[in-house]
Amino acid sequence: MTRPLHDLTWDNSFARLPDAFAERVAPTPVTEPWLLAFNEDLAATLEISPSVAADPAFARWIGGLDQLPGTEPLAAIYAGHQFGVWVPQLGDGRAILLGELTTSSHQRWDIQVKGAGMTRFSRMGDGRAVLRSTVREYLAGEAMHGLGIPTTRSLAIVASDLPVYRERAETAAVLVRVARSHVRFGSFQLFASRQQFAEVQQLADYVIEHHFPEFLALPAEDRYAAWFREVVDRTARLMAAWTAVGFNHGVMNSDNMSILGITLDYGPFAWFDDYDPAFICNHSDSSGRYAFDQQPRVGLWNCARLGEALLSLVPEEAAVAALESYRDTFELAVDGLIRAKLGLARRLDGDAALIRDLFDLMHQTPVDYTRFFRLLSAATASDPDTITAMHVELDDPSHSEAWLQRWIARVAAEPASDLERRAAMEAVNPKFVLRNWIAQEVIDAAVARDTAPFEQVMALLRRPFDEHPGMERYAEGPPEGTVEVAVSCSS
Ligand code: AMP
Ligand code: MG
Repeated sequence: MTRPLHDLTWDNSFARLPDAFAERVAPTPVTEPWLLAFNEDLAATLEISPSVAADPAFARWIGGLDQLPGTEPLAAIYAGHQFGVWVPQLGDGRAILLGELTTSSHQRWDIQVKGAGMTRFSRMGDGRAVLRSTVREYLAGEAMHGLGIPTTRSLAIVASDLPVYRERAETAAVLVRVARSHVRFGSFQLFASRQQFAEVQQLADYVIEHHFPEFLALPAEDRYAAWFREVVDRTARLMAAWTAVGFNHGVMNSDNMSILGITLDYGPFAWFDDYDPAFICNHSDSSGRYAFDQQPRVGLWNCARLGEALLSLVPEEAAVAALESYRDTFELAVDGLIRAKLGLARRLDGDAALIRDLFDLMHQTPVDYTRFFRLLSAATASDPDTITAMHVELDDPSHSEAWLQRWIARVAAEPASDLERRAAMEAVNPKFVLRNWIAQEVIDAAVARDTAPFEQVMALLRRPFDEHPGMERYAEGPPEGTVEVAVSCSS
């Protein structure tokens, strides 16, 4: 059952928290809003009728021209460590939570508009988002979801010709971001740093009640510790998932860390093309604090800051024990994911060396990470062409030959047939990821009001493990002559 716009059910639980948690603020209208993208797939999950896309009231509502009955717009307050530096107060400076949409099965979903105008927390900012950054965030969230990795998602983009000034003049857009919750590590840090421990507990109770109800039955002295441990676990597993798909978030400040362990706040992110452990997607990150291979460590660092903020609720030994479990959780998760990428269902002696040598080889070669694993999925000793394709990808067979022979011998020891192994590997090795050049191509078209590339790319990202014949171009690195797009925090 789906509903039209004026029939949606709202239950704004976050808005019922005391005033300390948020500023009540309505979106500031944009000029002449038009619908650039609408996510029918997510709309179905939210039980929103697909006809909403054609309803002019939708673009007016998202563009801030009208308020929808039942919504209670607000901007949440938080704090955080930005590039390791403590910032005592932040908050939604341009994202406004309109309300919580509830479905017939009592799922609640935050409907947030990002780029909706200034709030008390806008600091030096204009409260806006440029079209380019909303397109990137929409595509990235959907790509991540298609890969099976927890993330915020996007319901729509409403664009406008309202000018917005960054390095140059651009135009504004509003992203409709959807998540079960947008509460961040920094939300807890804010109240802890002000010694407002009642608010720390209130927020923890809120988050546990709505998002971790499995812990409600525990006595209070265990409940918060068990919940913190779960947040640490989820964060470690998220870092493993990012590692396995070659995703670099770029701004892992503690205010961009989700309490649900989902990917949050896509800014200068990238899926890398060539494998490079030291990859830094964020041109503003000169020290490489948030480089690809630093993410697991930074995830733990952020969990430690969250743990400190929860010390009024979680006994210190329990917090330390949870943090100490992070490394094992991460290692176990990433090992499982990489083994699956290599088609190794059994655990045999020598596997660790085989995996390590592959990553060394990929680093030296260099090689396109996503393409490598996709080609490897199809590689089999019985079809020499598939092996030749691997050598071509790896450029220099003298490097790759020995490793490939070892891998072929190793998968021969698997119980699965080559066909079964291929199917299993292709189900975890995507053919398509959101490469920067693809995002840029979609953006360039969208700026000219051509949304066809957007829809085409979305179809790939929604089902990234399928072949999509005819779309091979999108499974490749940047086309010859592409100038690398510099992505920074400017959005
Ligand atoms: P980010 O690192 O992009 O997630 O943003 C850090 C903080 O800056 C958050 O509190 C944002 O709400 C705020 N912010 C970013 N861009 C703007 C903007 N254009 N106007 C107002 N606030 C912004
Ligand atoms: Mg942020």
